[in-house]
Formats: sequence, C-alpha cells, structure tokens
Amino acid sequence: MTQVKGRFRYVFFDADDTLWENESHFREAEHRFALLLSAYAPENQIVELLTQKQEENIPVFGYGSKTFLIGMLDAATEICGEDFDADIYASVKEIIRELAHHEFELIDGVEEVLHALSGKYVLAVATKGDLTEQMYKYRASGLEKTFHHIEVMERKNEDDYLRMAAKLDIAPEEILMVGNSVKSDIAPVVNIGGTAIHVPHTVTWIHEIMDIPDSDRVIEVKNIREILKILL
Ligand SMILES: [Mg+2]
Repeated sequence: MTQVKGRFRYVFFDADDTLWENESHFREAEHRFALLLSAYAPENQIVELLTQKQEENIPVFGYGSKTFLIGMLDAATEICGEDFDADIYASVKEIIRELAHHEFELIDGVEEVLHALSGKYVLAVATKGDLTEQMYKYRASGLEKTFHHIEVMERKNEDDYLRMAAKLDIAPEEILMVGNSVKSDIAPVVNIGGTAIHVPHTVTWIHEIMDIPDSDRVIEVKNIREILKILL
C-alpha cells in the first residue's frame, strides 16, 4: 500500500453516501414510484424502465433529482399510455419534492473524522450533480466551517479532476480522494496519478458500480473512521 502520511496537503471528500445519506432516499423514491404505477406493471419492470430512462437522460440533463423527475415522467408516460394524466404528474412531482427535502442524515463517524483531520490537512468536498441541490446539502450538513471549500463537478471524470487540480494549483498526484463510488471517486483519480481511499456504502447506485482498479494507489477501508489510521 502506498504511503499516505505526510504526502498530502489536501484531502477531498465525496459528499453523497460518503458524508451523508443519499442513495437510500433515491431508492425509496423509486419504490414509491413503482407503487404509484403498480396497477400497470410489476415493480421490477418499472424500476428497470426508470433506470433505462435515467441513463438516457443523465448525459443531457446531468445528475440529481430533477433528472430523476424527468426519468419518472418518461417511464410513466410509457407505462400508463393514454392513462397518463395530471394526477399521475402531480403524484410523481410530489415524490421528487419529498426526495429533494428528505431529512438530512450525516454518516456515522463523519464529524469525528473531520474534526480529527482539520488543522492537519486542507479539507474540501468534491462532489458532482445539480449545483443547487449539492449546495443545499452542503449548507444543511453543518460541516461548512470544517471545509476549505466545495467543488461541484459536472461528471467527476478524469478531465473534471484535472481541472480541479489545475484550479487549486496542485499536481494530479497530490489529489487524495475519499469516497464510496469506484466509478466517480476512485477510478478517475487513480487514472490521473492520484490516490483514492474507498469507503463503501451499504447502498450503491447501479450507475456507479464498477470493479475497483488494481493499483497500489487505491486504499480500501471498511468505514470512514478507519481513514484516521491512514492519515494521522
Ligand atoms: Mg458518493
């Protein structure tokens, strides 16, 4: 395993499902959507179509609950056919409204870990998605003072991380990223020469699932508290 202590000035943290709960709320909204349309199709079929619509819409509209709304409306139109009406539209919109305002929940250990690292590292949030939603969660987290700043990237691919490094005037090798998603937090960082710590979450979005890259610059831990052993 690569030596981490003393090598990095910045530590970047993914936000959704690394600092706070997110994916479980999306899965709950998906379940509610399937219940709404249960007279038309079984849940697995509805979820499958919704997932397909999401994949089609993300490149056009980006990440976040507004794109999820569009995906649900696309799926509902297809599933309900001529039955699609204003009531279904209003019910879908309500599912998304509740998703966007779900109860905020920090992941266990996050506050303690950030407190232990602050003053020793420059801490920043590196997230992706809808700017309004990400900033709302950042402010609601109560962690704003702990962080130097937040980066909201469009896709969290290699180019986005290179742009982030250039903006902060650091080399890509100086990126140390902590996150739950192999696709967004681990693989692109390692591919540009950075180091990544994978902290798994119990629920992972199907869009984000991929194999962990085989590199000595990937460190796997079981939970966020374990990163203190590596960083301090
Ligand atoms: Mg995440």
